[in-house]
Amino acid sequence: MNMESSALLKANLKKLSDYLEPVRENGLQHLINGEMVASASGTTFENASPIDNIAFCDVSRGDNTDIDRAANAAKNAFAGWRATPGSERREILHAIADKIVEHAEEIALLESYDTGQAIRFMQKAAIRSAANFRFFAGRAPDAVNGLSLPTDTHVNYTIRQPIGPVGIITPWNTPFMLSTWKIAPALAAGCTIVHKPAEWSPVTATLLARLCHEAGLPPGVLNLVHGIGEEVGVALTRHPAIKAIAFVGESATGSAIMAQGAPTLKRVHFELGGKNPCIVFADADLDRALDAATFMIFSLNGERCTSSSRVLVEKSIYPEFSKRLAVRTKAIHCGHPLDPDTWLGPLIHPRHLEKVTSYFDLARKEGAEVPAGGVQPETPPSPGNYVEATLFANANAKMRIASEEIFGPVLTAIPFEDEDDALRIANDVPYGLAAYIWTSDVGRALRMSAEIEAGMVWVNSENVRHLPTPFGGTKQSGIGRDGGDYSFDFYMETKNIALATGNHRIPKIGS
Ligand code: NAD
Repeated sequence: MNMESSALLKANLKKLSDYLEPVRENGLQHLINGEMVASASGTTFENASPIDNIAFCDVSRGDNTDIDRAANAAKNAFAGWRATPGSERREILHAIADKIVEHAEEIALLESYDTGQAIRFMQKAAIRSAANFRFFAGRAPDAVNGLSLPTDTHVNYTIRQPIGPVGIITPWNTPFMLSTWKIAPALAAGCTIVHKPAEWSPVTATLLARLCHEAGLPPGVLNLVHGIGEEVGVALTRHPAIKAIAFVGESATGSAIMAQGAPTLKRVHFELGGKNPCIVFADADLDRALDAATFMIFSLNGERCTSSSRVLVEKSIYPEFSKRLAVRTKAIHCGHPLDPDTWLGPLIHPRHLEKVTSYFDLARKEGAEVPAGGVQPETPPSPGNYVEATLFANANAKMRIASEEIFGPVLTAIPFEDEDDALRIANDVPYGLAAYIWTSDVGRALRMSAEIEAGMVWVNSENVRHLPTPFGGTKQSGIGRDGGDYSFDFYMETKNIALATGNHRIPKIGS
C-alpha cells in the first residue's frame, strides 16, 4: 500500500467510526409504523464485518409477531398511500433521493464495512440508488395510466392500481442499491412495503428506512423487519395481508418462497442466480473483450448476479486470450475494502468463503487448470474472508465449475469450436440471466442474441444498465422483469373498464 492510499484508508476509517458509533451503541431495530422498535420477543442476533468477522452490533431478530405488526401497519397505511396523488408521491421519492445523495458517504462507508465490498464501487452504488428513486419518481404520476381499447359498442380502457402491501426480500450483495431497485418502484406504484433485508448485511437497510421517513414518507408505508430468512422471511411470505413478494436471492430460496406463498396465492417476482457466459469470438476487439470480461467478474468481489462467470473463447485465440486473462487476474490483489485503491475486498461471510474456496479443490479434481489464484492470500490485509482473484482454465461444460454459481471472484474459461458449439455451451446450464457476446460480425451477433437463453444480452459491452429497459432472467434465474414500466406490471393490477355506448344487443333470457 502506498503512502497516499494508506492515508486515505486511515481517513475513511476515521469517518466510518463516527458513523458506526450509534450502530454499535444502539444496535439495529425494526422500523414498524414509523417507529424504531425492538422485536416483541426481545431477541437479537450479532452482526459482524467480513473485514475481521468480529461482531460489531446487535440486530433485532424478528419473528411471526413482528411480521404481523409490520404487515398490519402496511395494510393500514395502504389506503392513504394509494390515494396520495402520483405527483405527491413523486415529490417524496425525489426527497428520498436528495437524502441519499446527502448521506452518500455514510451509506458507502457503512455498506463497505458491512459487506466487504470495495469502497470505490459502494460510492457509485449510493449514487445509483438515488438515481433509482429519481427515475421512479418521474414515473409515479403516470403509473396509473393504461390503454384505450375501443370497439363499435364499448369504450374499453385500462387503468393500473397498486396491488396492495408487498413484501420485499433482498440479499447481501450491494444490499442498499438492490433494495432501492425494488422499494422505489413499489412506492411509486402506490404500494406499501414490508422489507426484509439479508441477515448478513442489515446496516444500510436501517439507514434507508430512516432516510425515507426523514424525507416525509408517511408512517407504515415502508416497514422494515430484520431477522433470519428461515424465520422472518418465511413469516412474511405466508402473511395474508401481503399480496406479492419481490425477492432477490438464490434460486433454491426462490422455489421455497413460491411454495410458502402458494396457500395465500402470492404474486411473485424473482431475481435469482446466474452463470452468465461471456462469449469471445476471434473477430472481436479482444482488448475491449478482455477489459469487460475481467471487470464483470472481478468487480464487486464477484458477488454479482450478472457477473461474467464463464468466459467462452474461440479455440483459435484461446491460448493467447487465456494467457492474457491469467496476467490480468494475477494483477488483482485483495485489499482492505475501505482503501480507495482496493478492487477486491473480503467475501461476505465465513460460510460463503468456505463455499467459494471449495471450488478451488473441485476445479483441480475436475481436471481444470488454475493459472491464477485458487488460494487465499498469504498476507491478507486483515483477518477476514479474503480469496485471491481466480482463473480456472481449459474447463469444459460438463464440469461443475462451469455450471454452478460460485458467486465469488472466480472466472471459468472454456474453449469452443464454432458458433454452434458456443451456443450449446452457453445454454447448457440451468440459469439464464445475462449473456455477453463479443464479435465484429453483426449477423452472428443477431443470431446468437436470438438463440441464447438469457433475459438480457449485451453485445460488445459489459453490463450497462439503462433504467427503462427490462431487467430479469429466464430458466432458474428468475421470473418477471424490473425496470421502467415492467416494474409496474408487478406492483400493480391492470383493471379493464368497459362502457357501453348503448347500441349493442343485450341477450334476453326468460322473456
Ligand atoms: P439467499 O437466497 O440466501 O437470501 C436472500 C434473502 O432471502 C435473505 O434476506 C434471506 O434472509 C432470505 N431468505 C432465506 N430463506 C428464506 C425463506 N425460506 N423464505 C423467505 N426468505 C428467505 O441469497 P443470498 O445468499 O443472500 O444472495 C445471493 C444470491 O442472490 C445469488 O444467488 C445471486 O445470484 C442472487 N442475486 C440475484 C440477483 C438478480 O438480479 N438476479 C441480484 C443479486 C443477487
